[in-house]
Amino acid sequence: MRIAFDIDGVVTKICPLIAGIARELGYELDPTSFNQYYFRFFGVPSIKETSKIMEDILDILFTQRNDEIQPYDDALLVLPRLVSILNFHQEPVMFLTARKECYRKNTMEWLKKHFHFPFMVFHAGSRKKADFLKAHGYTHFVEDRFRTANQLATAGITPFLINRRWNVGRESVRGVLRVNNFFDIYYFVLLSQE
Ligand SMILES: [Mg+2]
Repeated sequence: MRIAFDIDGVVTKICPLIAGIARELGYELDPTSFNQYYFRFFGVPSIKETSKIMEDILDILFTQRNDEIQPYDDALLVLPRLVSILNFHQEPVMFLTARKECYRKNTMEWLKKHFHFPFMVFHAGSRKKADFLKAHGYTHFVEDRFRTANQLATAGITPFLINRRWNVGRESVRGVLRVNNFFDIYYFVLLSQE
């Protein structure tokens, strides 16, 4: 079993900051659209304009507000233990993110601040994650995006899909392992090794 990890929505909580930055820029998020992968702002009907606003918000988030990004508590507590039982010390932990590569430096800084095991970060758009993982011999991936988890399962990678507001209530394809948190993943890995 070789597991790699997504970053946003898995180890980082970015939704609350996105809403805050939007407000500072004078936009109000439509709460019914409030999730990590699809936002709508009141008074902004155009998808193109919405994408541009989101790009600006993410740029502020990953450059100026990097230090304010909070980790999920379960990831902070369990991931280092998971790393040790998976014998990852043989190789750095793989984080695979759809974040743009221009945010690499801050991404590395944030991870170094919160995790003290060796890791590496690769950037790949959501649709390219499956190919990347297969090419590098990974069998499992921890993800929060519903569509990506389905794509991975279809491609033969086993995704642990962490239940989040933006992915629950939808039926996943066969092969997606739904989990509540990193504790579930930890026990799954422990039991798989018995
Ligand atoms: Mg994510």
